Amino acid sequence: MFLTISTRGDAAHPATDLGYLLHKHPGKAQKFSTSHGTAHVFYPEADEQRCTAALLLEIDTVALVRRGKGRGGAPDAALAQYVNDRPYAASSLLAVALSGVFSSALRGVCAARPELPERARPLRVEVPALPARGGPGLVHRLFEPLGWTVTAEPVALDTEFPAWGDSRYVRLALESDTLTLAEALRHLYVLLPVLDDAKHYWVSSDEVDKLLRAGEGWLPGHPEQKLITSRYLSRRWSLTRQATERLELVRLAEADDSEVEEIDNAVAEETETEERPTPLAVLRREAILAALRASGAARVLDLGCGQGQLVQELLKDTRFTEIVGLDVSARALTIAARRLKLDRMGERQASRVRLLQGSLAYTDKRLKGYDAAVLSEVIEHLDLPRLPALEYAVFGAARPRTVVVTTPNVEYNVRWETLPAGHVRHGDHRFEWTREEFRAWAARIAGLHGYDVEFTPVGPDDPEVGPPTQMALFHRDDTEKEAKAA
Ligand code: SAH
Repeated sequence: MFLTISTRGDAAHPATDLGYLLHKHPGKAQKFSTSHGTAHVFYPEADEQRCTAALLLEIDTVALVRRGKGRGGAPDAALAQYVNDRPYAASSLLAVALSGVFSSALRGVCAARPELPERARPLRVEVPALPARGGPGLVHRLFEPLGWTVTAEPVALDTEFPAWGDSRYVRLALESDTLTLAEALRHLYVLLPVLDDAKHYWVSSDEVDKLLRAGEGWLPGHPEQKLITSRYLSRRWSLTRQATERLELVRLAEADDSEVEEIDNAVAEETETEERPTPLAVLRREAILAALRASGAARVLDLGCGQGQLVQELLKDTRFTEIVGLDVSARALTIAARRLKLDRMGERQASRVRLLQGSLAYTDKRLKGYDAAVLSEVIEHLDLPRLPALEYAVFGAARPRTVVVTTPNVEYNVRWETLPAGHVRHGDHRFEWTREEFRAWAARIAGLHGYDVEFTPVGPDDPEVGPPTQMALFHRDDTEKEAKAA
């Protein structure tokens, strides 16, 4: 993997300033070990007029496999772990190396010459082999809005056999006179992996922070923002939504409020046509709505409603006459209110919905008297010792006739490609249960509080490990109340 950054200069602004900006002396060849191999930095040319820094990343494919990518799988897949394009194709690993080796430059910091990073300068970036899913067209759409002049030539599969056509690689050259080096590096840091579209390390929720930091000043408002966000986060829906909503908040802070658009459909519609499964979050909401409709509920609680996606769906169906979303997070509720456009809602709609801040770890009399309650992906956010308090608050005190509970099925985690063994799906999950553990818990709660319970899979029900989401439907016989009253 190979990338060069060049600049031009003159006596007043020598090109060799690049060495200060990158914190790497033009006279030396240096090497750094990174988590995936060795990064070399050297300068093929360095004088007042022209200076080029080269970053060469030698990937250790064996170490990459040992670090836990792609365990198991078919035998040919096992071979592909070793025999692949990693050593020479620029990709997410190059972006990781870039951020490691040029971290100060990326942040626009230069202690020795603090005035340098501010200045835009003539820049040329070349990447001879860039995997570009989406082809040269997408390369143009990604870089041009940022002020780059783009050359993206498809690389032939084999120059001896032109009939074979082009590979998925392009030879990339970018030129600009209007960008600072830090801006240029931040564009590359985000867009190289976006074009590669196959991250080679675990995407955790702090990737959202990294993306927003690197995207500051250019990602909000980029015409391909959705594609960039979704691909950068390896199409992890929850992270993509988080990022989109935070980008939206940035945009809102900057834009005229009257132009606010829907912040939903965070799950990107890409311009290319590609097969895309329905996101699990959507399947989950559909399953919950179906269960609520079947129960005949009209007054519904969404407990731990988060950013209000389910509340929004419930509002669309007039059979739900009263919808209450409760969450402990004020920030989530602010986003929910914005999503629902609560402040601009007609009186009639507004009378159907309320958002409350509160904790499920305490009995709350505002939650009494409803037909149904939903706990969608909430229980796993409580520490196990706090769970009994929630159980009592919901099943003992609020006591709706129907309760719908969903939670991840930990057995399914082996089917998520990007999830290393033994990891939970979300940094804030305090536990994730097997099907058996969930069933045992639900049966115990049902017995304790006088409910019946049945289970429904959500998402593809794998013959071995079950579905990604497990759902329990609790029902309480209404006559119980009368019997008690009598
Ligand atoms: N129900 C939503 C959000 C799930 S994320 C969905 O299915 O998409 C879990 C939510 O539970 C978060 O919004 C978190 O703020 C909320 N939560 C966590 N602990 C809580 C508590 N003790 N009381 C109320 N809400 C809580």
